[in-house]
Amino acid sequence: MINLYGKIEPEFLVNVSENTKRVILFDPAEIYSRITFDKFKRKQSFGIGTLFPNEKGICACGCGEKLTGRQTRWKSEECQKVPLGVLYILNGELDYIGRLMQTYKPHRCVSCDCEDYLIETYTLNCYGNKVVNYSASGLQVDHIVAIQNGGSGGWLGNYQFLCHRCHSVKTKRDNLEKRLRLSHGVEQNSLFPAKIISL
Ligand SMILES: [Zn+2]
Ligand SMILES: [Zn+2]
Repeated sequence: MINLYGKIEPEFLVNVSENTKRVILFDPAEIYSRITFDKFKRKQSFGIGTLFPNEKGICACGCGEKLTGRQTRWKSEECQKVPLGVLYILNGELDYIGRLMQTYKPHRCVSCDCEDYLIETYTLNCYGNKVVNYSASGLQVDHIVAIQNGGSGGWLGNYQFLCHRCHSVKTKRDNLEKRLRLSHGVEQNSLFPAKIISL
């Protein structure tokens, strides 16, 4: 069964920062147990406060630090980094998810095993630091359970790399699966937490 809403256990292929590691190893179970969303909608639009609610005077990141002065949610800027990553994943930000996947998934198409390429470009941020961007060409990030089949809003286990060619083939299969699902009334409810709704 595909791990749509559970913690993943990656083997890191490259050195990653501690925060990146914490995002990838994050256990989303508690969040999934209290959020409701449309698993057929392309992009979710959670706010950080939904995922990490304020806890009376304590930092919402889970570090346990007391808030002081003007702090309303986070103890420090550092405390926001992991929650923001979790937010991007749940909102289905594919650029971000793709960058995370490169740290623990081989840069190959999981279907044909070809080593397609990721085109890197650089831009400079306001501090003059290089920011790497990856173009949509080359390896693509695929929803294993397609959005049209209820795969939106899932955790990292629902994503894989496919080359452009295999992605086209997979999309045709996803379309077929959707037709079968609708014509036979087969719902994949067993895969999903009860609270998730489709509109
Ligand atoms: Zn904190
Ligand atoms: Zn391929």
